[in-house]
Amino acid sequence: MIKIGAHLSAAKGYMNMLNEMSAMGANTFQFFTRNPRGGEAKALNMEDVHTFMAALPERKVESILAHASYTINPCSDKPETRDFALRTMLDDVNRLSYTPNQFYNFHPGSHVGQGVDIGIFYICDLLNQVLTPDMKTHVLLETMSGKGSEVGSTFQELRQIIDGCRYGERLGVCLDTCHVYSAGYDIVNNLDGVLEEFDTVIGLQRLKFIHLNDSLTPFNSHKDRHAKIGEGSIGADALVRFVNHPKLKHLSFVLETPNEFEGYKKEIEFFRKNTN
Ligand code: FE
Ligand code: FE
Ligand code: ZN
Repeated sequence: MIKIGAHLSAAKGYMNMLNEMSAMGANTFQFFTRNPRGGEAKALNMEDVHTFMAALPERKVESILAHASYTINPCSDKPETRDFALRTMLDDVNRLSYTPNQFYNFHPGSHVGQGVDIGIFYICDLLNQVLTPDMKTHVLLETMSGKGSEVGSTFQELRQIIDGCRYGERLGVCLDTCHVYSAGYDIVNNLDGVLEEFDTVIGLQRLKFIHLNDSLTPFNSHKDRHAKIGEGSIGADALVRFVNHPKLKHLSFVLETPNEFEGYKKEIEFFRKNTN
């Protein structure tokens, strides 16, 4: 059975997300570790955390995905901005240690004109302070669309980040279908070729989660505009082929489409109907 879910609001805690997940027919979900627009995260409610962890097996949840706030920039040209990103991620990783063996995804950042190599240097510098050999959380790099000066829109750049970190072998990847299509990887007409390239450059064993989105903008447009499934340039057929691909179907899929509860529920039903 496909592992699929959606991005949920974390405002009311873990059990609330788990109940919402079940109500939409899902068996995984994603949430922001903190309000992406604000700074401080709410204190963890330990009773909520414990009830949640105990409920995961009976809800058939294999893994969930925490998403770092997208407003942090690990490779800014401003030291105070990079420091804020570091402190935020260290705090996230500490909070996530109470829900062990789960996944934590972040955007590598934007080099803001310094160039990709300097950007990657700063990203690795941050990760060298976040990754530890015994940490229980799996940290994932997200594939980006390449808008503006975003780092991580090619598989080669992600590989460079992995190679530049002391514990880089601990890093995984979260592939966003909207982002890669926008970045020029043709998952509609050449999915096998894209996966072959991913395997050669990064290694498919590092691929841990999928952000399942359609794209409002055309192939190779280097924009980041998510569309509902079937309402974008990728299309429902290609996304159904994607989730059924023998090299991908064991992964967990999270919808980040512009939907509320009912819309997500329909999209999840659609993929359940079109997978076995
Ligand atoms: Fe993201
Ligand atoms: Fe995404
Ligand atoms: Zn996006």
